[in-house]
Amino acid sequence: MSLALQTFSSVKDANAALQAAGTRYLGGGTLVVRAANEGDVSVSRLVRVTDPGLSQIAVSGGKIRLGASVTMAAIARHPELAALAPAARAVGGPAIRNMATVGGNLFAPAPYGDFAVALLALDATVVTEDGELPIETFLAGRDTSRAVVTAVSLSMPKTESFRFLKISRVKPKGISVLSIAALMQRTADGTVTSARIALGCMADRPMRAKAAERALLGCKLTPEEIAPALAAAGEGISPITDPIASAWYRAEVLPVHLGRLLLA
Ligand SMILES: Cc1cc2nc3c(=O)[nH]c(=O)nc-3n(C[C@H](O)[C@H](O)[C@H](O)COP(=O)(O)OP(=O)(O)OC[C@H]3O[C@@H](n4cnc5c(N)ncnc54)[C@H](O)[C@@H]3O)c2cc1C
Repeated sequence: MSLALQTFSSVKDANAALQAAGTRYLGGGTLVVRAANEGDVSVSRLVRVTDPGLSQIAVSGGKIRLGASVTMAAIARHPELAALAPAARAVGGPAIRNMATVGGNLFAPAPYGDFAVALLALDATVVTEDGELPIETFLAGRDTSRAVVTAVSLSMPKTESFRFLKISRVKPKGISVLSIAALMQRTADGTVTSARIALGCMADRPMRAKAAERALLGCKLTPEEIAPALAAAGEGISPITDPIASAWYRAEVLPVHLGRLLLA
């Protein structure tokens, strides 16, 4: 079966083309082209946009805007994005990071989507021509999305308030057993006043550990005080099973790695 590729200079025209059955947007192509090569006949046409705005990174006034075509490699090497670099570097090896885009990562099914896990903890906003959506809402509805994502925007996290951890069995570029990102505000004495924790591989897409977030409020990050949060971390999860790990194993190791992240 043939696979057509259409290039547009504007997002508006690409959005119109995307409404046709069998048409998908082409980001870096690491997933969608692989699927086509492997015989996925649900895709008959790919569309791409050459608008340079989609490849721009803007950092200003404590805000970050990442064009949807920005690659993981570009984030990892950007001098002002050190806080995001560990999550960008967690995606594949160097060849994949040179192609893998922010937009594509938002759609990547588990065990992929490590960067989207970080964006979820950071409460990013997903931008399309129709407007802006909180990332949590976007992820919940992504299967029916027919619009080009143009950018994500987020507040620059303070280095000490944001943590990211990816667990894989093959170092340094294996896919995730799980990934965890946590954004926490703490008082001068270390008491947690707010927490957003996002998990990868605990569902088919990144999800929040809301029970653990609640249990952390008012705690200091000590083994004793975080114990209720670790016990609550598994609430609402439905981990994936794949050749890397079973759902049972992922659920078992989640509190172990969340504890390591919180105590780091
Ligand atoms: C060997 C290998 C290793 C990998 N390792 C990892 C890993 O460790 N961690 C990880 O998170 N991922 C990993 N991936 C998956 C993938 O490379 C990344 O998730 C990447 O970020 C996907 O982005 P992409 O631009 O290549 O997506 P594409 O393949 O271009 O697209 C993926 C999906 O997203 C849609 N899409 C892409 N961009 C947009 C947009 N702007 N608007 C609307 N829809 C869009 C496409 O239509 C398609 O449905 C790996 C892949 C391979 C092949």
